[in-house]
Amino acid sequence: MAQHFLLSANARSLSIATVLQMSDTQAETVFAAIRWPATDGKAVCPHCACPTCYEARRPSGQLRFRCKACRKDFSLTSGTLFAFHKMPLRTYLAATVIFCNEVKGIVSRRRASVMLYER
Ligand SMILES: [Zn+2]
Repeated sequence: MAQHFLLSANARSLSIATVLQMSDTQAETVFAAIRWPATDGKAVCPHCACPTCYEARRPSGQLRFRCKACRKDFSLTSGTLFAFHKMPLRTYLAATVIFCNEVKGIVSRRRASVMLYER
C-alpha cells in the first residue's frame, strides 16, 4: 500500500512560500502528485480507475484528461472536494498546506479567510 502523501517527505517540504511562487503548470504538477501518489502524478480515471489517460488541454488552457478506456473527460479536481472550482489551483494548494500544517486543526471561519472568500 502506498504511503499517504501527507506523511511523505515531499509533503513536509511543501511550504506556503513555495506554493505562492509556483506557476500554474507547477501547481498542476504538484496537485497531480498529491492526487495520484501511486502513479507518481500520472492521471487515473475517476470514473473507471483506468491508468491509461492522456492530456486533452482545452484551447483556453484548462487542463483536462481523457480516459482511453471509457473516453470520459476529467480534470485534476474531478471527484474531489475541489471539483467545479473557480479559483486558481494555487489557492487550493495554499489552503491545503495551511490546513495540514496546523497542529490542532483550523476552524472553518479561519479557513474561509485563508481561502479569500468575499461576501
Ligand atoms: Zn475511464
